[in-house]
Amino acid sequence: MPIALITGITGQDGSYLTELLLSKGYLVHGIVRRASRTERPRIDHLTLDGTIYGSRLFLHYADLQDATTLRRIMLKSAPDEVYHLAGQSHVGLSFEIPESTCEFTAMGTLRLLEILRDLPKVPRLLYVGSSEVFGNPVESPQSETTPFRPATPYGVAKAFAVDMVRVYRQAFGMFAVNALCYNHESPRRGESFVTRKITRAAARIKLGSKETLKLGNIESVRDWGFAGDYVDAMWRMLQQETPEDFIIATGRLSSVRQVLEYAFNAVGLRWQDHVQTDAGQFRAADVQSLCGDASKARRILGWQPTVDLVKLVEMMVESDLAALQTHSDG
Ligand code: GDP
Repeated sequence: MPIALITGITGQDGSYLTELLLSKGYLVHGIVRRASRTERPRIDHLTLDGTIYGSRLFLHYADLQDATTLRRIMLKSAPDEVYHLAGQSHVGLSFEIPESTCEFTAMGTLRLLEILRDLPKVPRLLYVGSSEVFGNPVESPQSETTPFRPATPYGVAKAFAVDMVRVYRQAFGMFAVNALCYNHESPRRGESFVTRKITRAAARIKLGSKETLKLGNIESVRDWGFAGDYVDAMWRMLQQETPEDFIIATGRLSSVRQVLEYAFNAVGLRWQDHVQTDAGQFRAADVQSLCGDASKARRILGWQPTVDLVKLVEMMVESDLAALQTHSDG
C-alpha cells in the first residue's frame, strides 16, 4: 500500500486530496496543528469513520516550526509521497501578518526540505505553489517559464518556497516538484475568500437575511478552478518519471462581478440590490489579472479541468443553502 503524508490536511485541498488518495488505496498520514477546537469540519467525515481512521488514515500533531517533531513523524510514517499544502493561505491577510506568513510559508518549506533530504528513504515531494509568484506578470497567460515578480508578502513567501524546492531538486537530485496553482474554490473554500464570501451571502439573503454584502474591488479578475480537479493534478505530478513543475489553471479569466452574477442568479436574485463596494476592503496592492497556461499539464499529465465557473459557483451556493437549512432545522 503506498504511503502518503499531507501537511495542511485539514484545509480545502488537504481534504479533497485525502479522499482521492484513500480512493486510490493509499495509507494517509496528516499533520495537524494543535488547536483548542477539536472539530475539523472538512475531514470529520473521514476521521469519525472507524473503518478508515486508525487503519488507513492517521493524524499527527506538529507545527511547521517544529523540526524535531516533523522529523520524528517522517521517520515513523516513512511516506513514499509528501504533499506539502500547509501555510498561511490568505493573500489579503499577508499584509497584516507578513512575518508569520513568511515564517510558515517560506521557512516552513525550507525546514521540511532539510528534513526530507536527510531521511533514509527520501520521499517524493509535491509543493503547492501559487500564481501569486507572478504578481504583476511580464506576460499573459503565464507558463512554467514566466519569471516571478511577486507583488504581495504572500507572493514573496511562495516564490521563496517554490525556488527552494527547485534548488533542492537540482542540487540534491530530489524528486521535488511545484504545482503552480491558480485560484481554486469549492464548497469547502475558506469563508474569507471572495467566492465563498459571495456564495454564503447569496444563500443567507435567499433565506431572508436583510444584510448588505460589502466587497472590495469587484472588477478584479482571476483564473478560478475547482479544488477537486487541482488535487488530481497534484497526484498525477508525483506519478511522473521525471520531476517537473507544472502550471495548474483553467486559462479563463472571470471577474468578481461575474461571480456575483452567477451566485445571485443561482438563487433567482439581482446582486445589484444586495451589494455595496467598500473602499476600505481594497488591498494595499493587488494583482489585477493572472491567467495560467496549463497546456504542459494537459499534454504531459493528461489533466484538464472538469468544472467551469458557473457550475462551481452553483455547487457552492447549493451547499451553502443546504448547510443553512440543516442548521435552522436542527
Ligand atoms: P486571492 O486571489 O488568493 O487573493 O483570493 P481572494 O478570493 O481572497 O480574492 C480574489 C480577488 O477578489 C482579489 O483581487 C480581491 O481583491 C478581490 N476581492 C474583492 N472583494 C473582496 C472581498 O470582500 N474579500 C476578498 N477576499 N477578496 C475580495
